[in-house]
Amino acid sequence: MEAPSEAPRPEPGPPTTTRTLLALDVAELEQVFVGLGAKPFHARIARENVLAKGLVEWEAMTSLPASLRSDLARELPILAGRETARSAAVDRTTKILIEFPREKQRDASVEVVHMPSLSLDADPDERDGATLCVSTQAGCPIGCPFCASGQLGLARNLHAHEILEQYVRGRTLGRLSRSVVMGMGEPLLNFTNLQSALDAVHDEMGLGSRRVTVSTVGFPDRLRAIAPNRPRFQLAISLHTPDQEQRDELVPAMRGIGIEDVLKAGDDWFEKTGREITYEYVLLHGVNDSAGHARRLADRLRGRRATVNLIPYNPVAESPYRRPEGASVEAFRRVLADERVVATVRWSRGVESDAACGQLRLRHARTR
Ligand code: SAH
Repeated sequence: MEAPSEAPRPEPGPPTTTRTLLALDVAELEQVFVGLGAKPFHARIARENVLAKGLVEWEAMTSLPASLRSDLARELPILAGRETARSAAVDRTTKILIEFPREKQRDASVEVVHMPSLSLDADPDERDGATLCVSTQAGCPIGCPFCASGQLGLARNLHAHEILEQYVRGRTLGRLSRSVVMGMGEPLLNFTNLQSALDAVHDEMGLGSRRVTVSTVGFPDRLRAIAPNRPRFQLAISLHTPDQEQRDELVPAMRGIGIEDVLKAGDDWFEKTGREITYEYVLLHGVNDSAGHARRLADRLRGRRATVNLIPYNPVAESPYRRPEGASVEAFRRVLADERVVATVRWSRGVESDAACGQLRLRHARTR
């Protein structure tokens, strides 16, 4: 048998050659501005207009001279992608599909979901803000059978500026108070690019590190490599079952990597970063939602510095899985609570508008 490999795909090779405001670094951007007869500080103002203020049209940047603005409108696009679809739900959740330039003939469409906080939110900073869900890859190589993103496989990793662009586009829909890296793709398989985008989100968009959550299937070696750098985000690991055989089915790319190894890497993460982990558990009716599953999950997690986030399955077209009833979700949570494991429930928002990650893209791919 082949030795288990932690890395189904390599990270991308050379950096992008795309010439947009977001793709250029500060020095390159200053060069472009100087080339147009402007001053280097104008470049910094422009970047701030985009990242801190959410302006995505040169004409709107009234803090720049008018003639410079019209030169820039001709010379330098701000964003690389194109919005190709948008859907909105009654709870004001908006989902947009962004198409990034094709590379090697591969389509690179990703989804961004903007979820305004509900007015009942206790935290004042949340109340008028929104949570943005972003993607790290076009498609996904993990292959979870209940997830829409994996069904078309991996197209490609996103560049750092493409990940950042999702934040910029999200910002145009309203102020961001939180972000979850829970869209398409596996963040740890494109981590260098994600990290560089998140640095800009932290430093230039001002989103605090406790307000960003990265969700992963939890490759232990990668977590151990990252933890010492004390990354500025909260970690969530998708576990989905306490049983090894079942995890091999539900998270196919993790075959050969034991649940205990993942949990141990989670413990190490807490030691190194001082931040508690969340274990995500998608509840699938009749598959992993029995009382026995809850008890065995509690056995695995009891005494660990971690909480559980239960996610009732969000139906995907043509999928055999079903969402459990509210009462059985609550029963599962109760068993965990009785076993001294803290769990919260996350009902998906915007369900009527294809809001389960990967659904909008899957529908588009199928109708083309
Ligand atoms: N690859 C990463 C991040 C992307 S998915 C990971 O697996 O964690 C973010 C979360 O949404 C994961 O926990 C994933 O299992 C869950 N998810 C995927 N499809 C879902 C669906 N149809 N309903 C509910 N949760 C889903």
